[in-house]
Amino acid sequence: MKAAVEIADGNLEAAALLYDMAALQPTERSRFGYKRAAKAIVGLAVPVADLVAAGSLRDVPYVGPSSAKIITEFVATGASATVEAAVAKSGKRGDVDSRQGLRDGYLSHAILAQALATPAEPGVVSKADYRGDFQMHSTWSDGTETIARMVDGAIGLGHACLGITDHSYGLPIARGMSMEQAARQWAEIDRLNTQLHPRFRVFKGIEANILVDGDLDVRPEERVLFDFVVASPHSLLRRSEDQTRRMINAVAGPGVAILGHPRGRMFNTRPGISADWDSVFAEAARRGVAIELDGNWHRQDIDYLLATRALAAGCLFALDSDAHAIEELRFSDYAIAHARLAGIPAERVVNCWSDDRLQDWMRERRGQPESSAKRAGARRVSPSPPKPRRRARA
Ligand SMILES: [Zn+2]
Repeated sequence: MKAAVEIADGNLEAAALLYDMAALQPTERSRFGYKRAAKAIVGLAVPVADLVAAGSLRDVPYVGPSSAKIITEFVATGASATVEAAVAKSGKRGDVDSRQGLRDGYLSHAILAQALATPAEPGVVSKADYRGDFQMHSTWSDGTETIARMVDGAIGLGHACLGITDHSYGLPIARGMSMEQAARQWAEIDRLNTQLHPRFRVFKGIEANILVDGDLDVRPEERVLFDFVVASPHSLLRRSEDQTRRMINAVAGPGVAILGHPRGRMFNTRPGISADWDSVFAEAARRGVAIELDGNWHRQDIDYLLATRALAAGCLFALDSDAHAIEELRFSDYAIAHARLAGIPAERVVNCWSDDRLQDWMRERRGQPESSAKRAGARRVSPSPPKPRRRARA
């Protein structure tokens, strides 16, 4: 199952009709009803058409008679006369049409399951290749769990490492960490790593905030104190102007390892950044910066459609959950599903690398030379992608 063009996702389309219907409702209560039904449909493990055929649609929690009618119409005709009539009556055709573009490339759970289960070409990343997740948040910023609990969650998923990436101090709205707090966090991670070694490894990351000009809120001399830096946009995500320069500057900034949720889009509500992504990807590939496929369901950023272009550009990839709670660690599955649909080889995915290889790559990203022991020993084999030649930066 490989898709360079948008794949048909009936569950997502059925849910989209319910979201449209929700947006036309006069009361919060009826809006909530349709939205809750829509969520249930995108969360289904099977195609909604199968449930309609089996007569069991109404068994799905939160799918009431009004939602069931719309879904049944969709399965029969590919559209919903009920929603059509409501849109026509509302005079909000423009609003409804504009939201369609805010769902492009998103996957429902049923398609995710299919993408994970369907055999792919040899070498394409699978769940079995995946060792650890490199974007997640703990109680040190806006997460709900301690690092130790997130480690337990990751071990429960069969992972062997993770990167903690709490928000940086430039994002107070997400309770970003000061550098003093970061130092205390590192001491906690060191203690955990001592306990967990050699079964599991926690890498010290930070999610730095990309500023208007593409610089980061974390200074270059602070970035190198972390194992790795994820640079992510959290502002100007609704502008239609081109932001290519901003994103290239972010990727080219000293010490950046991962470009996190590159677009900053949000399902059904926010388009995210407009940019010449091929230029951004070319810069990332040249520097060995990984492009993130953020698996948070509402983000799915970047999706398989754009990831296909990043793959062609020669990029590395990070497939992350962006979890803020233990149960959200499973969002890494969405990132893996998008990567499989884009045909990304495990070799290009940093989450599949050994701790040693990760450590080397992170050190390179920090602009620090390899240790003398490493230089003297065997060089690691790294067939692809092309590595940046320069080492001394910052
Ligand atoms: Zn973020």
